[in-house]
Parts: sequence; structure tokens; C-alpha cells
Amino acid sequence: MKDIDFLKLVKSNIRSLRPYETKEIPCRVKLDANESPYCIDITPDKKILQRINRYPDPEAVKLKKAISMALKVNSANILLGNGSDELIYYLITAFGGPVLYPIPTFSMYGIISQALGEKNIEIPLNEDFDLDIDNMLAAIKKYNPKLIFLSSPNNPTGNCFSAERILKIIETSKGIVIADEAYQPFSSDKGFLPLLKDYRNLAILRTLSKIGFAGLRVGFLLADKDLINEVNKVRLPFNLNALSQAVALEAFKNKRLIESQIKNITSERERLFEELSRINNVSPYPSEANFILFKTKNADIVFKKLIKNGVLVRNLSSVVKDSLRVTIGTHGENNFFIKALKKSI
Ligand code: PMP
Repeated sequence: MKDIDFLKLVKSNIRSLRPYETKEIPCRVKLDANESPYCIDITPDKKILQRINRYPDPEAVKLKKAISMALKVNSANILLGNGSDELIYYLITAFGGPVLYPIPTFSMYGIISQALGEKNIEIPLNEDFDLDIDNMLAAIKKYNPKLIFLSSPNNPTGNCFSAERILKIIETSKGIVIADEAYQPFSSDKGFLPLLKDYRNLAILRTLSKIGFAGLRVGFLLADKDLINEVNKVRLPFNLNALSQAVALEAFKNKRLIESQIKNITSERERLFEELSRINNVSPYPSEANFILFKTKNADIVFKKLIKNGVLVRNLSSVVKDSLRVTIGTHGENNFFIKALKKSI
């Protein structure tokens, strides 16, 4: 066998990357990935299986139509992705860098940008986890980024950024500003959809992953049709498989049920926030998303003890000092988590 050092062969920007952590830690209660705790019982149109020998509709026309009706945007303003992750990949592939984003935020902006060999510019959030507008504007002036990613509500901090600051960034930037609204359904903030018509350099990312369909991998980009057209050039032809298209289509018929689940999650979030606030040495950050970031002493140890006590959360202490992120579960799961946390600290 030939002796090949693949690490030397791989592109230099890939060398320092690590595969995404896919190891599942089995736990009674899974509150680590910002999924919905509710599974909606959906049967896709049976005809889909009778055509499974065929490629799926590359344009996902029917699904785009359903999204178009639900969000009141034109189909020409929609691009679908195998999760919004894929759309981030496509945006950076199509437009390149520099890529600017505040930190801490969703890690994929930086990972994908590095994988594609683009320059990342990371600007720390201020102490309220809002955008440090002066430094953001200075970075825009200095680097002229092609893409700016703003997750609002922000993962993992949970807050929305000030709309005024986001607008200032949209107005100042010559590049594209992507408002990543993965968690918008849980927020009292309406998001940036109503402004799409006013700003050609604004794009919005949404996903079905947080509202009950993480397993489907369906995300959508909403933007000016010319912008969509450019990103569509790098999209793989059949990126959305036939089953995902069919199930997502049915999902849009369950709007009421999904909305009531979202209501449950947001009211549970407020209850969990109160519960967490009452525990000594635990301080939660207010959240507009389906998770809560909280500080606790010795977060690494608490994280491990929580696993032993049956609950998996996300350890974010390398990102925000001494912090863990818990996804909002069902009423029962949240009670189980609170009990486990009390035993773990
Ligand atoms: N954006 C943000 C801010 C996220 O937190 C996530 C999921 N963690 C995504 C995008 C990706 O979601 P998906 O690929 O499942 O649509």
C-alpha cells in the first residue's frame, strides 16, 4: 500500500478543521440541539413512494408555492436548502468573503467560510449580547465584507439584536446582510421579512428545523430574485429529496398545530427562566428563542453531572464562560431537567 499523508494533501484551510461532532450521547431527556420536543404525525402523499425511482422536482415548485402563500413572498424570492446550513454554504460559495459576523454566534458561518477558504471577520458582541455597532461599522468600512451574518434571535445567547443596529448595518454595507431567523417563530420580534422589499442587499434565512422538522432538513432563503438567481447557480440540482419535499408540504397544512406548539414552548421558556433564576449559582439570560443560555459555576462539571442525571444540554463554556444552553422541552422534560440540575450543582 502506498504511504499517503492525507493531512498534507488536503487544502491548507481544511487542515485545522474538525469533522462536526456527531457522537450521540444517549440520555433520557435530550435538550441539546434546539429541536422541537413535539413530533407531528404526518403522512406524506403515498404517490411519492410510487415515484421514488425518479429524481425529485429540482425546483420543488409545490413546496415553494406553499411557502410563498404562508409567508406572502413570491416563489421567485425563495431558494430551498437541505437545511439552512446548506444555504449558508451556497451563499458563501456564490459570493465569497470576507464574511463578517458577531461572536458568539452560530458556529457554521465561521466553519463553512473557513472550509471554503474565505476570510472571516469576527466582532465580539457587547456585554448585553447586542451588536457592537461601532466596531461592526468600522469592520464594514475596513474590510468591505461580501456577506454579513446576523442570527437574530442569536444562537447561543437567545436575544434579538437591536433592529435599529441591524438596519444601520444593512444601510451601510455594500455587501449582503443575512438575517438568520431560525428562531424567529419563538420571538415577539416580527423579524425582517416586511423589509425585504425595501433593501436589495437583505436576505433572510428561515428553517423548519426548530418547529418540529429537524429531521427533514428543509431551510429557505428569502431575498431579491436576482440574488436568489446567483445563489441558485451553485445549488446542487436535487438538493431537496422527494420525501422531505412531500412531508414539508404536509407540514404547511398543520399551521395551527405548529403555532400552538410554539406557544407552549414560549410559555414553558418563561416558566423555565423563572425556575432557573430561583436556583442558587445559576443565572439565565433572557431568551427570544427555543432555548435558554445560563451561567453556572463549574459548567464543565455540571454538564457531565447532568448527563449522569439523565439530561443532555449543550456545554458552551468554551464560548461564553461557564455557560450551558438548554433547549426548551415539554413540561415534563423541563421539570425533569430542573430536578436534575438541582442535583448536579
Ligand atoms: N441558523 C441558526 C442560527 C441555527 O442555530 C441553526 C441550527 N442550529 C441553523 C441556522 C441551521 O439550521 P438547519 O440547517 O437545521 O436549517
